[in-house]
Amino acid sequence: MTQSSSLKRQSKFALAVYLAFVIAVVGTVSYFVVEPPIRDQLIRNLDSRSQIISSEIQSSLESPLGILQSIVSVGNTGKNPQLQAEMLQSLFRVIDGVAVSGGLWPKPDATDANQPYKSQFFNRAKDGKIDRIYSWDNPATGGYDGESWYTEVVDKPIGTVVWSSVYIDPFTHVQMITASSPYYVDNQFAGVATVDLSLESLVDYVKRHAQQHELGVLIRDGNGDVVIEHNYKIVEGIYISEQKFGDFGWTIDVVNANRLVSDQAYDIVTKVEMGIIPIMLLCVLIGYVVINRSLIDPIAHIAREVDDSKHGGLINLNYRNDDEIKHLIDVFNQKTVFLEQEKKKALASTRAKSAFLATISHEVRTPMNGVLGTAQILLKTDLTPEQRKHLKTLYDSGDHMMMLLNEILDFSKIEQGHLELERAPFPLESILGSINSVYYTLCAEKGLKFAIESDISKLRWYISDKARLRQILFNLLNNAVKFTSHGAITVSFAEVEMEGRNYLNIKVTDSGVGIDSSALDKIFKPFVQAESSTTRRFGGTGLGLAIVKQISELMNGDISVQSKLGEGTTFDVLLEMEICPPAQTEVREHKKLDYTGLKVLIVEDNRTNTIIIKSFMAGKGFECHCVGDGEQAVEAVQNSQFDLIMMDNHMPRKDGITATQEIRALSCAGADTLIFGCTADLFKETQERMMAAGVDGIVSKPIDEKELDDLLYRHSDKLYQFKPLHGSQTRVPFNAEEQLVSLYIAVEDRKPDDAHQILSKMFSHFEHNEESDAGALLAPLVKQKQLPSQQELDVLTVLLKDA
Ligand code: ADP
Repeated sequence: MTQSSSLKRQSKFALAVYLAFVIAVVGTVSYFVVEPPIRDQLIRNLDSRSQIISSEIQSSLESPLGILQSIVSVGNTGKNPQLQAEMLQSLFRVIDGVAVSGGLWPKPDATDANQPYKSQFFNRAKDGKIDRIYSWDNPATGGYDGESWYTEVVDKPIGTVVWSSVYIDPFTHVQMITASSPYYVDNQFAGVATVDLSLESLVDYVKRHAQQHELGVLIRDGNGDVVIEHNYKIVEGIYISEQKFGDFGWTIDVVNANRLVSDQAYDIVTKVEMGIIPIMLLCVLIGYVVINRSLIDPIAHIAREVDDSKHGGLINLNYRNDDEIKHLIDVFNQKTVFLEQEKKKALASTRAKSAFLATISHEVRTPMNGVLGTAQILLKTDLTPEQRKHLKTLYDSGDHMMMLLNEILDFSKIEQGHLELERAPFPLESILGSINSVYYTLCAEKGLKFAIESDISKLRWYISDKARLRQILFNLLNNAVKFTSHGAITVSFAEVEMEGRNYLNIKVTDSGVGIDSSALDKIFKPFVQAESSTTRRFGGTGLGLAIVKQISELMNGDISVQSKLGEGTTFDVLLEMEICPPAQTEVREHKKLDYTGLKVLIVEDNRTNTIIIKSFMAGKGFECHCVGDGEQAVEAVQNSQFDLIMMDNHMPRKDGITATQEIRALSCAGADTLIFGCTADLFKETQERMMAAGVDGIVSKPIDEKELDDLLYRHSDKLYQFKPLHGSQTRVPFNAEEQLVSLYIAVEDRKPDDAHQILSKMFSHFEHNEESDAGALLAPLVKQKQLPSQQELDVLTVLLKDA
């Protein structure tokens, strides 16, 4: 099965494209659709982290404001300092969290003129112990009323809270922040209440949180001073979540400590892709396998089966599903059965048609012989030119019809399958020789050049049907000569090997009228001519190429044609040929005799054939006499003596078979004349009928000169019966040993005719030889026409041993 593409290959290609598409789509969708929300989500996460941290800080720092409020309330009471101190002490005892110290800072000189600074400042130690600290009361240190946390709230409305910057507590070395608020007694500013908050736990919390969530955190106070920094690194393209929070005006910057948001988003997208893509690939592969199993495999299987059933037969496929594919197989099989039945019917009707054609043409030939014969007789009588012209047309038309009938017979016999190819070894050279001798003369007559080109070894032998090969060549060459009026005709031979088989490639090229391209594919059909005017101009039946095509196909080959109108035509034939080693017997030198002075009667109605045979025979030294039909041949034999008659078969008035029978029945010496039947008929049966009528040998047309030579040599005894050879040593190559061996074989096989033939040949050789007694011994042996006795054989052997 040869296909330029296959479903399997296409499905694999489609799968590859689909997978590439899936990967591209997943990639693109991930990048443009999935990545942005993930990135936003990550940013939101970071923002919420910074919010969580900032609100934790804010709530941690603002919750002690209640304590500040309580301290303010204590100040507002205006009670004596001793009582206030007790109240503050008990307040500090119950509080916890980030507030570590605080108290009241009365306006200087408000209570005691000797002691302007009398603060009530308490500190809660880590162990929960409450200490009162007096160190701020020393006026030498400049007084607490100069501190910013004090001055910023002096005379400020009730409830005002001011936050200090972050500072390091000189005693505890801990980061602190102070919130201060004024208090009033009798609507008079009486002092400032403060609460000091330790940032230690907040710093711990922020660091823990940042570590846990892999964050970088930077917190600054209202002055921009760094309060807390943890893992805070900025790189290009990093996202910073910024917040400002609390009344104390802090800011927080949060970043991802280890990776950029975009990297994180990319990681997440990659993870998503790595999860989705294998699943999708798996789905696609499963889909592919399912489609392959359910669709492509059965179709491929069907295609193979259909391929196997090209020359007939059903698709035998075990397909269980009841679907469209099953329907396809069933319908294909039904159609095959239907077509095979129709083919049988068509073949039967073609055979019937061919048989009918063969019978009709065979039957019509007999009366046609009468018509043509009568026309010829009439042509010899006294006629007016007008009558002669009409009669000539009648004869030519009849002649054409005879040719048509003969070709129809050939063609219909081939169509009926009656033609069986012979298989015998022969040298290609013998074919080249015969076409050269025939077409060189014919082309020269028309002023055409004729050339044979061959690059095949001269020693090449084939096992095939030589006669059919010659017939193909002669049909093509006849057409070439017929349709060419000037230029050249070339026939070329080459060998081609295809799929381990050997083919002979023959090309017949002419420079003739050419064939119109529209007619090129029709000319191989029976009864078709390229132009309707062809028959009128050149004659012919339109069957020659159909016969050539049929024979070529029988020889496992084919024929094609290339042609250009007005420029010429090339027929290209391919024939399967089995090569064989040269056979020894055939390469022997062909035996030729000297035929000078012998008379041959050529009986042939076709002018071209007459020219060919005449040129052969004249070349061999024969004196040629030509007649156009069987009747004239019988007449000629009665009137004069011939050494040989070359008898065609299909002829008007009297055909070759009838003429031969009549000649053999004559009472004159001519009855014994050597007769060779010349026939172009493809079938053995015709040759057998000619042999039965009395011809001595068959020369198949087109004539092969070497075969003709061999035939003449084999029948030399009869050929020289009227003119015995003189000085035969020089003219007939006589091999005594060879003749004796043949004689012994004939005696052994008890074949008196063969023995008589050999003895005659020996006798004709020794008849005039005075030096030998063989002639005297052979004369009675030839006459008695019996097998010689053993004693006679022994004497003959002794006599011939030195011959
Ligand atoms: P026929 O020669 O008897 O008409 P063929 O079958 O041999 O029948 O040829 C069929 C037709 O093909 C011819 O009639 C002629 O038109 C065309 N043809 C064949 N050979 C040649 C050629 N060498 N040059 C031109 N035309 C050709």
